[in-house]
Amino acid sequence: MPELPEVETVKRTLNQLIKGKHIDQVSVHLPRIIQRPDDAEAFAFMLKDHTVQGVERRGKFLRILLDGLVLVSHLRMEGRYGLYRAEEPVEKHTHVIFHFSDGTELRYKDVRQFGTMHLFAPGEEFKHAPLAKLGYEPLDDTFTLGTFKQVIGSKKTKIKAVLLNQAYVVGIGNIYVDEALFRAKIHPERSANSLKDAELKRLYHAIVDTLSEAVNAGGSSIKSYVNGQGEMGMFQHSHQIYGRKDKPCHACGGPVHKMVVGGRGTHYCPKCQPVQKQ
Ligand SMILES: [Zn+2]
Repeated sequence: MPELPEVETVKRTLNQLIKGKHIDQVSVHLPRIIQRPDDAEAFAFMLKDHTVQGVERRGKFLRILLDGLVLVSHLRMEGRYGLYRAEEPVEKHTHVIFHFSDGTELRYKDVRQFGTMHLFAPGEEFKHAPLAKLGYEPLDDTFTLGTFKQVIGSKKTKIKAVLLNQAYVVGIGNIYVDEALFRAKIHPERSANSLKDAELKRLYHAIVDTLSEAVNAGGSSIKSYVNGQGEMGMFQHSHQIYGRKDKPCHACGGPVHKMVVGGRGTHYCPKCQPVQKQ
């Protein structure tokens, strides 16, 4: 699933590809992608003759800003946008097509069909699901060490579960939570309220640094990331711990372990991230 850095890269790429384009019409081939309004035809009708003004991000959601409308799009597991010429054949699993007046089309493909789209009047999107109850943006100036301690420090649940909860801090998913906990040398099953001040500080900086580095890596690779047809792949950043089960830990050389925490496959180094801090 794309997390903050990947969605940020898609946002930047979309800004390059579709800003200023005028929607002639929209075709929806899989109505259940459209969550609001609850009628896919109404969705298509409302978007007709609107112009894309820019693309923003909130957590793992894209906000496609139009004149008088905001389209909130979540890619979930495998959603992808691509820009095509209208005469190019429509590939399998293409569920929504935005037909632009310049003869190009923004196509939304989603093999798993978990993605969602919500349409709002500008500003209304923050008052309703799915954006209403989202927590802090980790790369915003408002997300300070003090804020992080306040939001996270008193929680009794496992730190991994706390960090995955989008109501506290947004944009961190299974990959980047493992990366940040490894960098901060904190075991994923520690309860959040057991973390010492120094550990919270390490974790705060690990989150901000890990996400910033991934955003920068994605941003610098935008060109190679869009293929000839303008389709955006999910750029894979190199990971320090995630997906490296049984491989040597980059810090100590011992084997990376994998276990399940809160139902999610979790990579960690038992030596660098001990269960109990002495
Ligand atoms: Zn290690």
